[in-house]
Amino acid sequence: MDNQEFEERDVVIIGAGPVGLFAIFECGMLGLKCHVVDALDHIGGQCVALYPEKPIYDIPAFPEIEAANLIQRLEKQSEPFSPIYHLGQQVIDIQGLDGGEFLVVTSKGTQIRCRCVIVAAGGGAFGPNKPPLDNIEDFEGKSIFYSCRSKEQFRGKNVVVAGGGDSAVDWALSLCDVVENLYIVHRRGKFRAAPESVRKLDKLCDDGVIEKIVPYQLKSLEGSDGILKSVIVSDIDGNDRLISADILLPFYGLSMDIGPIAQCGIEIDSNHVKVNKTTMETNIKGVFAIGDVATYEHKLKLILTGFAEAASAAHSVYRHINPDVEMHMEYSTSKGVAS
Ligand SMILES: Cc1cc2nc3c(=O)[nH]c(=O)nc-3n(C[C@H](O)[C@H](O)[C@H](O)COP(=O)(O)OP(=O)(O)OC[C@H]3O[C@@H](n4cnc5c(N)ncnc54)[C@H](O)[C@@H]3O)c2cc1C
Repeated sequence: MDNQEFEERDVVIIGAGPVGLFAIFECGMLGLKCHVVDALDHIGGQCVALYPEKPIYDIPAFPEIEAANLIQRLEKQSEPFSPIYHLGQQVIDIQGLDGGEFLVVTSKGTQIRCRCVIVAAGGGAFGPNKPPLDNIEDFEGKSIFYSCRSKEQFRGKNVVVAGGGDSAVDWALSLCDVVENLYIVHRRGKFRAAPESVRKLDKLCDDGVIEKIVPYQLKSLEGSDGILKSVIVSDIDGNDRLISADILLPFYGLSMDIGPIAQCGIEIDSNHVKVNKTTMETNIKGVFAIGDVATYEHKLKLILTGFAEAASAAHSVYRHINPDVEMHMEYSTSKGVAS
């Protein structure tokens, strides 16, 4: 699908987080068809990337709902409107074309013409926080990974997990039964993962299944041609320790960067997109922003705020595309859901 120009649709939504997903539905209810682009290779934004199993308590009509479940429901709700997803690619440019249209360009070379753009980019595109180690890029994707797709790729290996949060501890627990040796390195003595996970980690360390190396920090890497031989760690007094390792898994969280969108002429305020809160329109006619990325006075960064903004933006998009059509507000109960 790379380097192709797609059929024109009304709207390109940048970001498939909860708010972008709900925007597909709101646009769909007004007869607007959407493309949806996300830098991640899955939908769900922060809900899936950061806290899939955490219950959310402030979604109206759900006293409690797991974040991943909310995303599944939003995906189902937007399904009747057949959105076209372009995942695993970051939007790097939004070009204004003659006639008020836009060309949205992604990091994979995908180009999509559209009549309006809705930026639902949250805090920006996600990327891993990388430890500051010399030549780390030489090992990335071969011996160093920032996420794990399958446990099997690490079977029989000497693995160093670095970090003290939920991802580091959960992956240490999950991998310890397939690897040869597992070390977990953390710069503090105390892990900040869920208490139950920390209890399990302590037990496995007591049983000699996992070796805890604390308080140590990653210092350097040894190896060549992308093949890791050892990881050197040091404590606060500068004492080094060498760990024989085939694999290093640093889990230092994700950083978010609004990135190239900020260079497209959209007015930005402290890494957020400024909008008119009555229309959700940015300083560029036909470009709207909703959800965490959108800012205005007294903005509440909540999913439910983003949902309302999605409805508002969809109506603004409709008015933008159909300036001569008088809009009649119609409830979903009267309209039904027709694709
Ligand atoms: C631990 C935690 C708990 C939370 N609990 C709650 C809660 O209880 N209630 C609540 O209301 N909120 C909660 N939040 C906040 C909530 O998750 C956010 O408000 C919500 O995710 C915002 O949705 P969004 O769709 O605007 O953005 P996001 O969820 O951030 O999704 C934005 C998407 O856009 C993509 N993207 C960004 N830039 C680009 C680009 N250039 N090209 C392509 N894709 C791009 C990103 O990859 C991402 O997938 C919590 C957040 C965290 C971290």
